[in-house]
Amino acid sequence: MKESASCVSFRQRLKDKKRIVVKIGSSSLQHPETGDLDYTKLDVLVRELCDMRNKGKDVALVTSGAIAVGRKAVHLKDSCQPGERTIAEKQACAAIGQARLMMIYQKIFAEYNQVAAQILMTKNTIVDNLNRYNAHNTFSELFKLGVVPIVNENDTVATYEIEFGDNDSLSAIVAALVEADLLILLSDIDGLYTDDPRKNKDAEFIQVVEELSSELMEMGKPSTGSNVGTGGMNTKLVAAKIATSSNIDMVIANSKDIKALHRILDGQDIGTLFVGNQNTYFDLPEFVEKMHS
Ligand code: GLU
Repeated sequence: MKESASCVSFRQRLKDKKRIVVKIGSSSLQHPETGDLDYTKLDVLVRELCDMRNKGKDVALVTSGAIAVGRKAVHLKDSCQPGERTIAEKQACAAIGQARLMMIYQKIFAEYNQVAAQILMTKNTIVDNLNRYNAHNTFSELFKLGVVPIVNENDTVATYEIEFGDNDSLSAIVAALVEADLLILLSDIDGLYTDDPRKNKDAEFIQVVEELSSELMEMGKPSTGSNVGTGGMNTKLVAAKIATSSNIDMVIANSKDIKALHRILDGQDIGTLFVGNQNTYFDLPEFVEKMHS
């Protein structure tokens, strides 16, 4: 696709972002052969985040991996079909894995002399006014102290009624809550295509989405039979909706190269950029309350 002048200027303004939320998914943190954590990737991720801090930016990380790490720790096989595990088993794995995951993050952040903190959330954190107010103040205080909040869903207690369900949406909700100006989703895909590139060789890569039309949102839904919905694009488009409606720019980039993080902040053309919309009114608690209902 051709690059327009506005596309270049949208990229250039990423250089001035001050508060950045980065999301990384479980599959990006594991070795595909064994399911064990990829320490090299984790190290590069933390180094990139610490370097953002050294540039004076506020940084928060939304990380998955609790359930996967817990499952490994107690030698549960990864080969179950979806729905085969009980909720209690998943929650037990999350309880084991979240602590382990944080231990590893703390260790690597400490190597770079950076203090990190843990925040676990459920839908109630956003929907309940007092909870939301307190969570907002906690994040603000952590940023003031120069600390990197590390966020995950509180999987050990979250059941259907109070769960976000996926960390793509959660990261956009966090970005909106903390009034971030950029959200970066590190994923196992390069970004958004006009069609599934694995099935359609004519699929074109989309560098910038200036307006998230309802047509584009529909394309992401698996139920429509569209190929764009494969590879978890639906949750990423929901995240884009939350972020851009809250006037936050969002980039989806491939986690194969985590060093892309600083290049995105240098204004380089990496992944798909969804441009924040300053002219929308967005009610975060109302949106979160209606999720899944
Ligand atoms: N919160 C889950 C975990 O940490 C993952 C959810 C997701 O990846 O979207 O294991």
